[in-house]
Amino acid sequence: MTDMLLTGAEEIAWNLGDLYAGMDDPQLDADLDACDAEATAFSAVYRGRVAGLSAAELAELIVRCEALNDRMGRIGAFASLNWTQNTEDPARGALLQRVTERGARLAQELVFLDLELAAAPDATAAAWLADPALTHWRHWLEMVRIFRPHLLSEPEEKLLTEKSVTGAAAWGRFFDEVHGAARYELDGEQLSRDQALSKLYSQDRALRGRAAAAITAGLKAMQRTNTYIFNTLAADKASDDRLRSFPTWISGRNLGNQVDDHTVKALIDAVTSRYDIVARYYALKRRLLGLDELFDYDRYAPLPAADRFYSWEQAREIVLEAYGRFHPRMAEVAGWFFEGRWIDAPPRPGKMGGAFSHGTVPSAHPYILLNFEAKPRDVMTLAHELGHGVHQKLAGVQGVLMADTPLTTAETASVFGEMLVFQELMARESDPAARLGMLTGKIEDSFATAFRQISMNRFEHAMHTARRAEGELTTERFSELWLATQRAMFGDSVTMSEDYGLWWSYVPHFLSTPGYVYAYAFGELLVLALYARYQQEGGDFPERYLAMLTAGGSQWPHEIVKPLGVDLTDPGFWADGLTILEGMVAEAEQLADSLR
Ligand SMILES: [Zn+2]
Repeated sequence: MTDMLLTGAEEIAWNLGDLYAGMDDPQLDADLDACDAEATAFSAVYRGRVAGLSAAELAELIVRCEALNDRMGRIGAFASLNWTQNTEDPARGALLQRVTERGARLAQELVFLDLELAAAPDATAAAWLADPALTHWRHWLEMVRIFRPHLLSEPEEKLLTEKSVTGAAAWGRFFDEVHGAARYELDGEQLSRDQALSKLYSQDRALRGRAAAAITAGLKAMQRTNTYIFNTLAADKASDDRLRSFPTWISGRNLGNQVDDHTVKALIDAVTSRYDIVARYYALKRRLLGLDELFDYDRYAPLPAADRFYSWEQAREIVLEAYGRFHPRMAEVAGWFFEGRWIDAPPRPGKMGGAFSHGTVPSAHPYILLNFEAKPRDVMTLAHELGHGVHQKLAGVQGVLMADTPLTTAETASVFGEMLVFQELMARESDPAARLGMLTGKIEDSFATAFRQISMNRFEHAMHTARRAEGELTTERFSELWLATQRAMFGDSVTMSEDYGLWWSYVPHFLSTPGYVYAYAFGELLVLALYARYQQEGGDFPERYLAMLTAGGSQWPHEIVKPLGVDLTDPGFWADGLTILEGMVAEAEQLADSLR
């Protein structure tokens, strides 16, 4: 690395010792063996008997199942987190693979449980759901039952679980490894993908152009591999959907997200019908940058005053201040992440790119991975992942089966956290030009989560539809679908070059979690509406918000947000969020005019 500017985050590393002492900790294998033994004992007691259990007996079963899941989840979390710290280290890869295989075997042993719960007669299920002994797990039981029409027989489910390790999961890991090891040559340097992508945020237009060309060249060198992986995983998904009788490529995801197809369609229609807001903003950005034509690599160009440096210490202070102003409890829980070394902050060779918060298991605590480079967006990323982290920590009280929220509301706390930190940063800035820079930054972030993710959903839709109708797709066909869905969003405000056509091929979400991306838009528009209510109401809104986070995945999303004054079933609701975005663009236009 040439830019050796210290961020203060260089030494901020995880303490994975809260999970296991290290890769050679004997407790790891002892726990794996204990899980196997418990799974065998569990299945000896319950297999073939589930439908005949009383509510009290079923509650006993669930408690035992939670303990087993927690222990196995701890091992899996350690192996996975340990691997992300150096994806090029074969020993870490081998441990992850070993744990994944053992976990799949365990899952097979337990596969009878969901199947028998789902297969239980409706009268039995109704009696369970009505019994106070099962009140706590009511929603979990409902969720197991909604997949009833899509489950296969027990031997079939076992086969699918076992074969997925060397099938879809192996292809996913191969993709991650190929992209983790890939280097992009820029000005004589070998950069990782994230390092190369970060140059698109440079003020130097020529550098942005060279970075884009370097990324295109790198993707071109991998295009045969990427095309093959995308085709294989799209076909794998098509056969899964066919076997499980899902009518469309997105139906299974919607069911898992606990929203109906109509709500999702209403969201997508609302967003695609307002692509004019995107074109309006990029026309302003072109003017602010003083350019005649805006190319794809100009989209992330910073406006001059927006270039600020935030050390790790400053970033920490800003985020905790913003969280604490909303509710002291938010700052308290977020503070644990810094004090307990639950965060791994600096970029390192071999470390996984991007950022995430891994919830691990309720008996432990979440871990956050960042690649912190002291830019304003790194502060927002910290706010984002801490939002997830606080959510995961609070929802831990629901237990391992119900702590996780569906994807639709999984991004609520993260995006809301970003909103709080954005307001904090704005309040600290008095220079109008800098304020304009921050506002445009926020607009671009909101666009990235609302509009861009929906345009990516349109690409996924086109890709899966084409793969099913046309068979194996060529690289050119993928690129054509990508450019068409991107151009639809930008209109003529941004020129997407043919080179940009290959940029679908590095997005991991398309492979690891098909259909995931619309959840970001769902979360963004939901948060805009929530934030507006917080500003209007104040009062006990923060209390009700924390109660929503603590509820985790213990209730349907539309029920969980209801106490906050939100009706997800109202189609007009999505239009409201978009109007707020339009207002932000209008505000930026006014600020820009006042600076002329
Ligand atoms: Zn997130």
